[in-house]
Amino acid sequence: MKNIGIIGAGVAGLHLGLQLRQNGIPVTIYTNRTSEQVREGRVMNSVAHMHVTLDLESDLGIDHWPGDEYRYISHYHYNGWGEERSYAGEFTSPSRTLDYRIYLPRLMEDFTDRGGVIEYRDLSAGEIHALTDVHDLVVVSTGKGEIGAMFPKRADKSPYDRPQRKLAVGFWHGVARRDPNGVEISVIPGVGELLAIPMWSFSGPVMALLFESVPGGPQEVLTDQRFEDDPEAYRELTLEMLRTHHPTVMERINVEEFRIQSDKDILQGGVTPVLREDYVPLPNGKFLLALGDVHLTVDPVQAQGANAAAYSARVVGDAILEDDVFDERFMQKVASRRGERIEAANDWINTMIHNPPLPQIPALFTAMAANQALADEFTENFNYPIRQVDLLGSEARVSAAIERAATRAAVPAR
Ligand SMILES: Cc1cc2nc3c(=O)[nH]c(=O)nc-3n(C[C@H](O)[C@H](O)[C@H](O)COP(=O)(O)OP(=O)(O)OC[C@H]3O[C@@H](n4cnc5c(N)ncnc54)[C@H](O)[C@@H]3O)c2cc1C
Repeated sequence: MKNIGIIGAGVAGLHLGLQLRQNGIPVTIYTNRTSEQVREGRVMNSVAHMHVTLDLESDLGIDHWPGDEYRYISHYHYNGWGEERSYAGEFTSPSRTLDYRIYLPRLMEDFTDRGGVIEYRDLSAGEIHALTDVHDLVVVSTGKGEIGAMFPKRADKSPYDRPQRKLAVGFWHGVARRDPNGVEISVIPGVGELLAIPMWSFSGPVMALLFESVPGGPQEVLTDQRFEDDPEAYRELTLEMLRTHHPTVMERINVEEFRIQSDKDILQGGVTPVLREDYVPLPNGKFLLALGDVHLTVDPVQAQGANAAAYSARVVGDAILEDDVFDERFMQKVASRRGERIEAANDWINTMIHNPPLPQIPALFTAMAANQALADEFTENFNYPIRQVDLLGSEARVSAAIERAATRAAVPAR
């Protein structure tokens, strides 16, 4: 019987582990954080799962959060340019938002309930190499930390050597949800983006405000000024940024009730986007396979990292189920099967975060305000990175999409 080792208990490692246990395959997950540490720790992200990922979860038998309180159906846009600035696009089926400090511990419980083994160890690269003598296959899904550097960066697909946005995300009370529930995407040239994401967390509904600030722009102070130094001053600063740059989010704020859920609910930093090689050969003739953020790290502005990780876990899981030999042929098979979608997510997001904006992006966002079909297509494509990069990969592609959408619907976007 094949025996699989997975390093890391994030969405990537857990989805893979759960699929393999569903099929009776022995799996050990090695991780450096217990479920209590995850639950009680600092917020790590503000993840939305698209409906394609919810379908994968349904197959895995981990659809524990079916209620409407976790779901949203729309993207509400506010553009900082153009005549018509507000419009909305709709998904064909809802997405879900849930605090990963609730989500991941529950999946760890599911994994051990299914007979999976979790070993708590903080592994070095050398120790991970050594595990290839113990397991038939070792999959590395340790997230965007240093371990990932054992997989060489793909220079052809990694155009940036530093973050293109400074990030600050907090889970706030006092921001009303939209009806129907949705994520607000406020895009201001020279400033950056704000994503207001209706999140479900420990106290129930909160609003994740994810500020994506252009380095050197007026909003970067939300990343540079540390929340811990003076929480009240940080709250005031957040309100000031909302008032100045993001009117459609500000109008939903009740200033008296506007407060952070807890001191652990702020994350400040940045992400250097990178696509790494799928696998590396080792001196003992075995291979390590990259999964999740180790393989593809993207800026969170288009909500793709975890969705890509879940997709990739399924590709790897299916390949393990059908094969018994984890040689280079296996590695190449995985690389080729997941390659198109993973590269598309990478290219789409790297197009969106370019500084200054590539010309097709304002063209697309302005056109969406006048065309419901196009706004809906862009929104639904959050499920389908290949279609999205087909839509916006170049000026010619955006022009073609605008023409195509105009023949489908003449109605302005909601
Ligand atoms: C602000 C923000 C918002 C985001 N929003 C979205 C979104 O809306 N949609 C979306 O799809 N994605 C989003 N993402 C991206 C998403 O969070 C990541 O892509 C995803 O969580 C990566 O999962 P992973 O399993 O690859 O890695 P991780 O979740 O980082 O898991 C890594 C695991 O490895 C363990 N580990 C690390 N090092 C070691 C070691 N040396 N030894 C043992 N164990 C180790 C860790 O404890 C952890 O269990 C967002 C990210 C951020 C920062």
